[in-house]
Amino acid sequence: MFRAARLKLTAWYLLIITVIGVLFSLVAYSGLTFEVRRGLGLQALRAVIEREKARAPGENALPPSFMERRSGARAIPPHTPVFDPQVFAETKRRIALQLVFINLGLLTLSGFAGYFLAGRTLKPIEEMLNEQKRFTADASHELRTPLTAMKTEIEVALRDQSFDKDQAKDLLQSNLEEIDRLQFLSDHLLALSRYQKDRDSRDFEEVSLAEAFAEAAVKIQPLAEAKSIQILSDVQDISLEADKDGLVKLFTIFLDNAVKYSPENSKVNVAAAVRKNKVVITVQDSGIGIRAGELPYIFNRFYRADASRTKNQVHGYGLGLSIAKSIIDKHNGKVEVSSTPEKGTTFTIFLPQKHRQIFS
Ligand code: ADP
Repeated sequence: MFRAARLKLTAWYLLIITVIGVLFSLVAYSGLTFEVRRGLGLQALRAVIEREKARAPGENALPPSFMERRSGARAIPPHTPVFDPQVFAETKRRIALQLVFINLGLLTLSGFAGYFLAGRTLKPIEEMLNEQKRFTADASHELRTPLTAMKTEIEVALRDQSFDKDQAKDLLQSNLEEIDRLQFLSDHLLALSRYQKDRDSRDFEEVSLAEAFAEAAVKIQPLAEAKSIQILSDVQDISLEADKDGLVKLFTIFLDNAVKYSPENSKVNVAAAVRKNKVVITVQDSGIGIRAGELPYIFNRFYRADASRTKNQVHGYGLGLSIAKSIIDKHNGKVEVSSTPEKGTTFTIFLPQKHRQIFS
């Protein structure tokens, strides 16, 4: 598909260049032939004057001007050829031939350059489409897994003649869990699409960072309590221009991960302060950590570090950090991560205090 598009684009480039080339050549051809005709005419005129001078020496001190000749002020024999038409025809032919060669060379060069440029133009679109395809495939796979599980359980139950009330309850319970997973996944997909939209200034308002953090902490508290994890806060009450929902979601994602990937009875430290007009937030845990080789990928959609370790033990779809990254991008901020396996992870988020602030 992209090869055909590339060839089509090259053909368009060539067509445009051909039209421009032909137009320029026509203008150049008529300009050059006019100049040649004028040059040859003047040359022939000079020759005639020289001849006349030679026939009647001393009659004219100065040769007649071109205008004089045109107006007939001087007596020049009426049938004197202005120039040799054969020379003129030959010159015209040579000019035309040279222009054809120049155009052919231009077309060949443009063909290669056009093909190269078409490739470069289409590359980001191709990458975006591939990414989109990958995303759709991953999302469909994740959506299909719980659906297949539910379908199988229901089919088995329907075939079982002795299926009783308790078993039905278990089945519904299991189905409910799968539905929760589906809901979780669709919520994450919706969040991803919401924060990936363009930066809409209307979403930005004056937000209290401490309030956004408190809202997120309340959501994560039950999970933390279940693992006896303490969430310690040193979040200063900073006011910043932000998307309030986005900020709450951001804290929720980092807190959720910190709790999910930390052992029981550990601590999660969250701090926020303003440094050089930037809000700097750190979320630090002493959990399982992330291997250095995996760090560049953790913000990719559906990426889960060390699948064998986390996939079986901790529930997730690998979408949290990509949503967090979209929110940070929307705020024109940046995120850094440092981690030591089996020791812990620290995420540092930098957000501008003002929405329109240029960030360095
Ligand atoms: P999920 O947690 O649903 O798998 P995320 O996008 O939130 O997806 O995270 C991507 C991966 O990054 C996780 O699968 C996990 O391996 C790793 N990760 C994220 N946060 C932490 C953390 N605080 N400690 C250790 N690993 C983490």
